[in-house]
Amino acid sequence: MSQGKLSGRVALVTGASRGIGREIARLFAEQGANLCINYARSQEAAESIAEQCRSYGRRVLIVQADVSQEDGARRLVESTVSEFGRIDILVNNAGILTQSLVKDMTVEMWDEMITSDLRSVFLCTRNALPSMIEQRFGRIINVASQLGQKGAPELAHYSAAKAGVIGFTKALAREVGEYGITVNCIAPGPIETDMVARITESWKEMKRSELPLLRFGTVDEVAPTALLLAAEPDGNIYTGQTLGPNSGDVML
Ligand code: NAP
Repeated sequence: MSQGKLSGRVALVTGASRGIGREIARLFAEQGANLCINYARSQEAAESIAEQCRSYGRRVLIVQADVSQEDGARRLVESTVSEFGRIDILVNNAGILTQSLVKDMTVEMWDEMITSDLRSVFLCTRNALPSMIEQRFGRIINVASQLGQKGAPELAHYSAAKAGVIGFTKALAREVGEYGITVNCIAPGPIETDMVARITESWKEMKRSELPLLRFGTVDEVAPTALLLAAEPDGNIYTGQTLGPNSGDVML
């Protein structure tokens, strides 16, 4: 018997093999959701988080798919609906990070970022919407970044993609509210994951010193915000919002 705030719900988490997405998947499973775990390259990591989610008594599907590509995003959503008969919660979490000053940035680096971190959100959402509209329920949670709100040197492409995610969220929230679908963003500050491990030490030092809490967050300090937005009645009245587990980096 499923127990918890997401009891009986079906959630699809993109980029759930590692980092923030992995912890969101674990917490959602703990709270009763059946899950589709998506990954791009890290099969072993995806299998290990799937096993952990199954240990809570949940049904889990693993789908390898590049969500930045039309066929990958379509196959991912179709597999979820075909396995579970519905999709209640979509967490658009998958993303990448590269680092360069704009003056040195190649067009390829720009395009890769916009495709991975913004186009993917549009593609997965568009594919999930018909099912959510039909059932007149849906929770779409987009993982943006506080850099989409304030920007940062050497990360203009990332900041632009994440600002795009926030704009997309607000616009879509106005389109689909009448169907009982909410659309929100989480905009974390720096969080200790593989993604941040790849940023230069000098950048991290600069960033850490300007945070009111003077430290980066951890994945278990972000996932509860996703749970808040996904759960009923906790998240019912949030839509078009951007919530910030960000060490105080952005204050609205
Ligand atoms: P991470 O540890 O590097 O994990 C990234 C995840 O995304 C992995 O599961 C990866 O799959 C997946 N992924 C990447 N590209 C993909 C694609 N095209 N298709 C499918 N899956 C893909 O990153 P993270 O720090 O957890 O970041 C997760 C999200 O939070 C990102 O959107 C990121 O921008 C955002 N964010 C992170 C921070 C931070 O400080 N960490 C702050 C603000 C926002 P594989 O393992 O298979 O490669």
